[in-house]
Amino acid sequence: MGISRRGFFYSTVAATAVGLTATRATATVCAMPTADRQAGFTPQGVVDELMAGNARFVSGNMVNCDFAAQVRLTSEGQYPIAAVVGCIDSRVPPELVFDQGIGDIFTARVAGNFVNTDIIGSLEFACRVAGAKAIVVLGHTQCGAVKGAVDQVELGNLTAMLQNIEPAVAAAGPVAVRSSSDSEFVQRVADSNVTLAVQNILDTSEVLAGMVEAGELVIVGAMHDIATGQVTLL
Ligand SMILES: [Zn+2]
Repeated sequence: MGISRRGFFYSTVAATAVGLTATRATATVCAMPTADRQAGFTPQGVVDELMAGNARFVSGNMVNCDFAAQVRLTSEGQYPIAAVVGCIDSRVPPELVFDQGIGDIFTARVAGNFVNTDIIGSLEFACRVAGAKAIVVLGHTQCGAVKGAVDQVELGNLTAMLQNIEPAVAAAGPVAVRSSSDSEFVQRVADSNVTLAVQNILDTSEVLAGMVEAGELVIVGAMHDIATGQVTLL
């Protein structure tokens, strides 16, 4: 990171303190979502920033954002750095979990954080058109959709929706009794579901796979522990 870019981040070393020291960072100034900020990031740098943001979230040192100023700044254009595919679960809002503000990240949320044509098309817009440089598929522990898929719940349109998670159930391996009471199996399915979504994006989208090939984009899977708030890259 060059000196000139520091102004786009924080007044402290938070943005560079990814890892062990990030939890002790005391960033207080919110980055503004400008074209320069977007341009200054490498794809891996975006992932590092999101993980640093999660460290701030976990440690309670979230940046102080002037949302009204961000609204004004982004009123004529947006320059987000990342796109997150997450679950609708009320406990996993990506902007909060990654300590990002208005204009920073695209979020596509659906129960069970799987991807389909509509979501992958949205990701193509986010990255190819609007300049996001990282996609994070964000699963979470204790996911009700994953549990529902494991239990083969049938309810209205939920029945068909849960079929999207069935490949992850199969990938998690054989189990003596298929039940959400097996928390270890549920987590294996959740992990597989994220990994399969990442692969699905690469297999289904020539646009995004090409960007990855060209070094313009990274796609990562991650797991959010709802008991701690901690996000771990898979
Ligand atoms: Zn969920």
